[in-house]
Amino acid sequence: MTMTLEKLTSEAYHDNLQAALIQFDPEVHKLIAKEYERLQDTIQLLAAENQCSRAALAALGSILQNKTCEGFPAARLHGGSSVMDEVEGLAIERAKRAFCAKYANVQPHSGTTANQIVITALLRPGDKILSMATSHGGHYSHGFIDSITARFFEIESYHVNRDTFLLDYDEIRKQARRFGPKLIICGASAYPRAIDFAKFRQIADEAGALLLADISHLSALVMGGVHASPIDYAHVTTTSTYKPGGPRGGLILSGKDYDRRIKTASGETQLWQLIEKTTFPGIQGTPYFSNIAAKAVFFKEALSEEYKARQVKVVENSKRLASILLRKGYNVLTGGTDNHLMLVNIADNSSHLTGLSAQQCLERCGIVVDKMLLPYDDNPNGPSGIRLGTPIITKNGMGTAEIDLIAELVDTVLSNLKSSGHAIDQSVADHVRGQAKDLANEFPLR
Ligand SMILES: *Cc1c(COP(=O)(O)O)cnc(C)c1O
Repeated sequence: MTMTLEKLTSEAYHDNLQAALIQFDPEVHKLIAKEYERLQDTIQLLAAENQCSRAALAALGSILQNKTCEGFPAARLHGGSSVMDEVEGLAIERAKRAFCAKYANVQPHSGTTANQIVITALLRPGDKILSMATSHGGHYSHGFIDSITARFFEIESYHVNRDTFLLDYDEIRKQARRFGPKLIICGASAYPRAIDFAKFRQIADEAGALLLADISHLSALVMGGVHASPIDYAHVTTTSTYKPGGPRGGLILSGKDYDRRIKTASGETQLWQLIEKTTFPGIQGTPYFSNIAAKAVFFKEALSEEYKARQVKVVENSKRLASILLRKGYNVLTGGTDNHLMLVNIADNSSHLTGLSAQQCLERCGIVVDKMLLPYDDNPNGPSGIRLGTPIITKNGMGTAEIDLIAELVDTVLSNLKSSGHAIDQSVADHVRGQAKDLANEFPLR
């Protein structure tokens, strides 16, 4: 009896969760171990991924996951929700501080859902949205033909300039005047240069539109102070929370416009209230509380000097990788990068090299990248590009020397692939894979 009582603590309950899994389900445990080894033995040059801390993982795997209580702090539908009010309150308070925002909503289950909530809150079916074309770097949820956004709203896309691959703000302004959207969405999944949120706000104001900034790819840099913040320019800002290095999920923020009055079918409501109502009961049910707790842990990390310094390093590493590839003769779109990612056109007609064949071959050699459709890409063989990013390798401590080696390895694989057509020389592949593994093993997952 005494023994049991001693063990009735949260630590005892949550300790050795992996041991409980190994004992009950070795099959699933083996897959987790396999994924860990894959990550630890390869170089992750992904732009749309990051690595959340073990502290945030611990919050994710906690009993908070069990709690059902719909609604918002101090206005819940279910009993026993006082601790969840504190958890959510803490996450909100830290999110507001991390982004210097006036309003934060930590409930969205994902970045896509955050966008659906904002769009549904601000618009009525049939209203017009001007957003970046998916094929030019915009996100599916901004109005891709098969998305729910395109089902219920009238979408027009803006594009990057054909020669520079940069956003052409004058063109977007003209388009906004002519099309008359009720909402403009800025923010991208594959754009290597800084985004001018102030200009987007001017364009929106001139067109009488609201502005949504989706900074899923940029939120780490915004929190780190290495990219301008959209918080007071956009009426609403959204982000996924895993791309900046937190748990999977979404976040909705607002700055000075948070209490702006918005006309609705039944009168007028403040912007933030409309967003809450559309979150629940509009689109979601119960918030995912272990996830919200993990977001709170992550925002605490993001407020640290260490996190901010790391974002500076992410961009330094990215610029260095881009400049080495340029020097080696690669076609890095826009001639470089301002952020954590770069787009490289590696299509080669004589060898039929495509983004997909490059992705697959690099992966066999221990280097993980994304194939990428590039703006104005009309390659009959498939996407012409690859997208490389530096958040994960930087998180694990890689810097200048490692970037130089990685650039060499990437070049070895791509040039061998180019000269040999589809198949890379096996001895080259083995050699690169060995080097990639040695390098990755020097920098254990953090
Ligand atoms: C990744 C991404 C999203 C989607 O986030 P999920 O959490 O994966 O749904 C939304 N917008 C942009 C710009 C993104 O890059």
